[in-house]
Amino acid sequence: MKVVFLGPPGAGKGTQAVRLCREEGITHMSTGEMLREAVKAGSEVGLKAKSYMDSGALVPDEVVIEIIEEKLNQTGWEESCLFDGFPRTVAQARALEEMLKSHGSALDHVIYLETSPEVAVERLGGRLTCRNCGANFHIRNMPPRRAGVCDECGGELCQRDDDRPESVQNRLKVYEAQTADLINYYVKKGLLRRVSGDLQADQVYTKVREALGL
Ligand code: AMP
Repeated sequence: MKVVFLGPPGAGKGTQAVRLCREEGITHMSTGEMLREAVKAGSEVGLKAKSYMDSGALVPDEVVIEIIEEKLNQTGWEESCLFDGFPRTVAQARALEEMLKSHGSALDHVIYLETSPEVAVERLGGRLTCRNCGANFHIRNMPPRRAGVCDECGGELCQRDDDRPESVQNRLKVYEAQTADLINYYVKKGLLRRVSGDLQADQVYTKVREALGL
């Protein structure tokens, strides 16, 4: 199964993707996570990406396409793979289609987590992210067992730079301007499945599984 998770920042793509991949043994490909790792490592890609990410802008298509291409040239994803936060533009969607085709593969489903701006802003404003492993929590909806400490690895929890109010507003605008077109693109391909991202995380998860026929 090859799946894309689509939706605005704050839709819960990462939360749902981590759980589904863990329970079903699916390879998780999050471009946001890969880019944050690159920034942390100070690599060439990280240096190119950092200023875009901090302001809430999209990193140029060629940079993210290259990152995904590298991952697809490695093995382990062929059976089942979930793309989280990629594609974000129609150009990326076309590139993904070509890359998968060259590996004899294709997308099966695109899950669109339809989420209202109010819910997205509330989620991003209260999100806590582990500096070490990248796991996400929420100050009210999904608090860690110990304040400020990651349940998964014991790392320190912090607010992502791009979850600060100035960046959040920009990310939502960028989503509307650059990513919303993807919905029509995937409707036309007959791949889009809509799930309300406004529900509580467990309810969204049940609906995502249903939409995937699991
Ligand atoms: P995310 O963790 O998916 O919210 O991504 C965090 C940031 O990484 C985004 O605001 C973008 O700056 C960048 N990013 C992640 N995925 C992509 C992508 N597919 N295309 C362009 N920029 C991306």
